[in-house]
Amino acid sequence: MRCKGVVTADKGTGAFLRFFAILVTADTFAARSLATPVAAILGLCIDLGAAHEPRRQRLLDRYGAFSVDCREVFAKRGLGMMKKIGSYPELADPQLQPRYSGIPTFFRLPHSVRLDEVDIGLVGVPFDGGVTNRPGARHGPRDIRNQSSLIRKINQATGVAPFDLVRVADLGDAWIERPFELQGALAEITAFFATVHAAGVTPLSVGGDHSISLPILRAIARDRPLGMVHVDAHCDTGDDYLGSRFHHGASFRRAVEEGLVDPKRVVQIGIRGSLNAADMWQFSYESGMRVVSIEEFHDKGWRWAAVEARKVIGGGSTYLSFDVDSLDPVYAPGTGTPEPGGLTTLEAQRLIRDLGGLDFVGADLVEVSPPFDTGGITSMTAATILFELLCVLAQARAQKPMSRG
Ligand code: MN
Ligand code: MN
Repeated sequence: MRCKGVVTADKGTGAFLRFFAILVTADTFAARSLATPVAAILGLCIDLGAAHEPRRQRLLDRYGAFSVDCREVFAKRGLGMMKKIGSYPELADPQLQPRYSGIPTFFRLPHSVRLDEVDIGLVGVPFDGGVTNRPGARHGPRDIRNQSSLIRKINQATGVAPFDLVRVADLGDAWIERPFELQGALAEITAFFATVHAAGVTPLSVGGDHSISLPILRAIARDRPLGMVHVDAHCDTGDDYLGSRFHHGASFRRAVEEGLVDPKRVVQIGIRGSLNAADMWQFSYESGMRVVSIEEFHDKGWRWAAVEARKVIGGGSTYLSFDVDSLDPVYAPGTGTPEPGGLTTLEAQRLIRDLGGLDFVGADLVEVSPPFDTGGITSMTAATILFELLCVLAQARAQKPMSRG
């Protein structure tokens, strides 16, 4: 069944594959013409070929997922033997398939590179080159994809059904070709998200460490500064560290300096922990950000925090950045910089739900570090928060469909 033997890539094959990858990326006529024979030869599309017709057709209709029909080729070669679903047509919906089955994408969504037929794109950013202490967040997207198979279709608390409201797909990873060159890596991330943004797709990104927010903002906020709801134990408005202006503790200072976020429209929620200098987060206060310490949050509650966030944000375009270390380590131990005494998962969920209706143009969830996790609890919690982020993004997107250029 598997077309072994062909991928004994010599230099010529490798060069051809690179050329083909460029064609696919460019989505050219040539790529479409070449797609079927190439995919069949390399046996890359066993899964797509295996997909039963109703589901495949529905996904193609709804998401325009890039695929090549190598089943015809397999059939001609006597290889068309994959099982089809006959008795349970409702299983054409990926969210209704058994949650232990399938290849792990975010929320079991179709993997698509057809940006023109996607409203919200989930993107993994497996990069932790900006971590100042404990690494491992590069493994976040893979673990969260796996745990996100637990999530169902409808937000029971708000009634939001994001997959019915808008077209959602997993766009794969913004993986980085040169991860050891920090500024070059950030530029690669920006280039990826610039393509996503230019196609009119709202990005929901999964890190990776918090340094990834800056290059994402460079891509989606280049024409106007955004407001930002930032949930985190740390302000991430530090300065140079060990000779680098770019790391996961300085992202939002750089974002303000580069005119990507309007500090007067930024609220930072959950701030706590010990400091090495009393003025470590001075930039937040001096630039006019609204800093909500965990003590203030605890005293006044999530409902008040949502009202306060709305007051600070006002009405314009807004980004939502969620650092999983905002949660107490009892809920999210698998992170590089845990700070005990944090938000509960439920507080974070209710806070995010109460922000529904704001004009969110993108969001990220960062700093899940599976090597420090225990039994997948942090990735599971992160997947749950990611669903809440998706719901408010879907609400925003459904309210104001973006025009496509
Ligand atoms: Mn952070
Ligand atoms: Mn943090």
